[in-house]
Amino acid sequence: MKLDARIPSGPLADKWTDLSNHIKLVSPANKRKHTIIVVGTGLAGGAAAASLGELGYNVKAFCYQDSSRRAHSIAAQGGINAAKNYQNDGDTTYRLFYDTIKGGDFRGREANTYRLAELSMAIIDQAVAQGVPFAREYSGYLANRSFGGAQVSRTFYARGQTGQQLLLGAYSSLMAQVAAGTVDLHPRSEMLDLIVADGEARGIVVRDMVTGDIQSHVGDAVLLCTGGYSNVFFLSTNAKGCNATAAWRAHRRGAGFANPCYTQIHPTCIPQSGDYQSKLTLMSESLRNDGRVWVPVKAGDDRAASQIPESERDYYLERLYPAYGNLAPRDISSRAAKRACDEGRGVGPTKRGVYLDFADAIERLGVDVIRDRYGNLFEMYEKITGENPYEVPMRIYPAPHYTMGGLWVDYYLMSNIPGLFVLGEANFSDHGANRLGASALMQGLADGYFVAPYTVGEYLAGRQFEAVDSRHPSVREAISNVQRIEEQLLSINGSRTVDSMHRELGMLMLDKCGMSRTREGLEEAIGIIRALREEYWTNIRVPGDEDEVNQELEKAGRVADYFELAELMCIDALRREESCGGHFREEYQTAEGEALRNDEEFCNVAVWEHTGNPSQPRRHVEPLDFETVEPATRSYK
Ligand SMILES: Cc1cc2nc3c(=O)[nH]c(=O)nc-3n(C[C@H](O)[C@H](O)[C@H](O)COP(=O)(O)OP(=O)(O)OC[C@H]3O[C@@H](n4cnc5c(N)ncnc54)[C@H](O)[C@@H]3O)c2cc1C
Repeated sequence: MKLDARIPSGPLADKWTDLSNHIKLVSPANKRKHTIIVVGTGLAGGAAAASLGELGYNVKAFCYQDSSRRAHSIAAQGGINAAKNYQNDGDTTYRLFYDTIKGGDFRGREANTYRLAELSMAIIDQAVAQGVPFAREYSGYLANRSFGGAQVSRTFYARGQTGQQLLLGAYSSLMAQVAAGTVDLHPRSEMLDLIVADGEARGIVVRDMVTGDIQSHVGDAVLLCTGGYSNVFFLSTNAKGCNATAAWRAHRRGAGFANPCYTQIHPTCIPQSGDYQSKLTLMSESLRNDGRVWVPVKAGDDRAASQIPESERDYYLERLYPAYGNLAPRDISSRAAKRACDEGRGVGPTKRGVYLDFADAIERLGVDVIRDRYGNLFEMYEKITGENPYEVPMRIYPAPHYTMGGLWVDYYLMSNIPGLFVLGEANFSDHGANRLGASALMQGLADGYFVAPYTVGEYLAGRQFEAVDSRHPSVREAISNVQRIEEQLLSINGSRTVDSMHRELGMLMLDKCGMSRTREGLEEAIGIIRALREEYWTNIRVPGDEDEVNQELEKAGRVADYFELAELMCIDALRREESCGGHFREEYQTAEGEALRNDEEFCNVAVWEHTGNPSQPRRHVEPLDFETVEPATRSYK
């Protein structure tokens, strides 16, 4: 596997501008001769398909939902970062870049992260032009709030519905292109394989989820914008449909998978309430602007929150990280919550919870201000828990939320398979070992609106592509591969449901490859995953047929892929003998219990190659060269 990050030379701040100044362009007359396949219509894919369509390419866009508007991006609540410095509180492009690279525990690629910070401002302008109703100050300026890991206010928001409003903006641009005839939209279509012809990505195989028809679609480039893999944990804040199949099948075709063990367990989610729950709900990090996190000082204190006096409360984030307090980054806040609960100081029926208390903020600002800022989140919390957060503190606990790992890409967002680009949460590129809040929307939109339209053009410029049609051997082979997997899943007729096996895998992953990991636990998990995978392929039962709507069949394919990905996550976590960001190996910690990096051996991206046997992946590394920042011990104290 050849890994060339193709980072442009020159000073960090000039790399993207210089590249844009000289990048090869496709002439308007030639653009319509190229077909580009975009899988996914969330913020990354929707933005990319709309932008490429507007440029005049022939775009075919796919998603598995009934409407492209229902992509998981719609769930994003809290906001999107941009270094506009409207608050005049000292923000700059460099500061946003530095916060992001430090937040990622110096395991991200400098050049990509800097470009992200640089493009952040254009995203806000683009969204405002589309009519995205960002919150505004009385003066008319766009309002900002703070998110974790930053000492400035740079998060733009639309109440607790920022993702929804941004997606509606991207969707309206996309639908304008559908109406103009440049984008051909295929909802209810699930990509199940990548077509690689003569070493280049040339198309995809999809299943029509209504008729079960297996079809191929070919083009000159393929963009995967298919989101993350948090649902490997079964319980997560992601929509139930989110899955890793597109990325995983591309990996099986040769695309490197980078840093699979970097996952984010978000500190502010509603605690699990029962064994048969299928999903967890996020309470946006924005709540930590005004909410104070605490647990009782004494272990086993069963009194109601209102009965515990101030002197017997431990506002542990404020105590441990006075400079950032309740806005400490996610990985650090999650581990601190876990530690408090492990010490027996957790609250709520399961004792796996900590308080997020708004009493002080309500007293200081008044209930109307709090309702204005977080009203819909408070309402959602009350509907789910039956408790009124205006009157009693919320209870929160960490939950799987985001995946920093993903398919490896170079600076151009192209994977190691020429012609296969990967955008948004599906790639590994910008967040290192921990993502700061409000930076995923920023990345998806930067990739889709501003990076891919240039870099995909660069790939296509001046190229004549040989025709690939349905008779091409690579197309036929990909189609029969998909059919074979489907037939195999339907023919097992065992006794376990796909869900029961997914739940078992998820609980194991959360326990052994979640907020903290050990050598012993990971080795044990790998053995169990192998045994479970064998059971999966011999003992699941998938009812129904292939030529109809069959959600069990859809799930069965996705969970089969999770069983392989889960093993790779554990192998990667085992091999990375250090702690960094969301990857916390208990063996590698400071005296104060913080992550202990090993820059000497692991200042790199681990990129895994599929060898045909999921238990024997091959590891490659891309060294991380820090030209501008000095990797330091991360401190939020
Ligand atoms: C509850 C919640 C709140 C969040 N809040 C914030 C926030 O406030 N700020 C922030 O920056 N980030 C937030 N995030 C993270 C952020 O929402 C996501 O990282 C981001 O929206 C991902 O966008 P995406 O375009 O990469 O993928 P997605 O929005 O997940 O879109 C994936 C697309 O790919 C398609 N797809 C996937 N697989 C296939 C397949 N095999 N075949 C066909 N189509 C396929 C889907 O149909 C969909 O269209 C939040 C996440 C969650 C879970």
